[in-house]
Amino acid sequence: CGIVGYVGGRGAQEVLVNGLRRLEYRGYDSAGVAIADGRGGLEVHRAAGPLDNLVAVLPADGTAGTTGMGHTRWATHGPPTDRNAHPHRDATGRVAVVHNGIIENFAALRAELEADGVELTSDTDSEVAAHLVARAFDAQGREGDETAGLTAAVRAVVGRLEGAFTLVITHADRPGEIVAARRSSPLVVGVGQGEMFVASDVAAFIDFTRDAVELGQDQIVTLTAEGAVVTDFLGETAKTRPFHVDWDI
Ligand code: GLU
Repeated sequence: CGIVGYVGGRGAQEVLVNGLRRLEYRGYDSAGVAIADGRGGLEVHRAAGPLDNLVAVLPADGTAGTTGMGHTRWATHGPPTDRNAHPHRDATGRVAVVHNGIIENFAALRAELEADGVELTSDTDSEVAAHLVARAFDAQGREGDETAGLTAAVRAVVGRLEGAFTLVITHADRPGEIVAARRSSPLVVGVGQGEMFVASDVAAFIDFTRDAVELGQDQIVTLTAEGAVVTDFLGETAKTRPFHVDWDI
């Protein structure tokens, strides 16, 4: 339902919780965050119910990480429980994904993963994306293609997904980087000074920046603290629409 991602110099936890509060008006049944822990791993916290349930399980003094993403879920596949809340991870816990919308062909993808010995830990349509990105990323490593990276892995996976989705993905091996993709669901980048945001709605980052870029259909954005690179699902550089948010939220 609601998505916010952050890369920059601030503590990500505070930015993400602020963003999720700003998105509460859209309605949701669960919430969660994934934050780079600053030690080469990802820290994930999730809770069914109001945002305060999530805040209650977050470290009181914030996590060390300055890269992360958050989600408020409006369940379409699987009941609103802690384990169905996003972010979802692959089996190694090194890839985390949040998703808005519906992956229509999730059952076939799930069956394919299960046939290959992957154990899924939620009832959602979303979780397949985490496993597929992890596998695409690892396959590149085996093929020795150092330049391919997380964006190429995400591109390979979104090409296989049917339906409407916004996906935001982070990988423990790529701290300081967030990749997001959209098809038929909104996605906006917030441009700050040495920090970048991505969200389903400008409300999520309006307290930090009013400079934004709207992504078009079937586009992927790669965010680092220094900037955003937007490509289409085929890997070509894509045209985007920068705008300034001059209304009050
Ligand atoms: N289809 C996903 C789920 O049920 C995402 C729902 C949403 O957009 O929040 O978990």
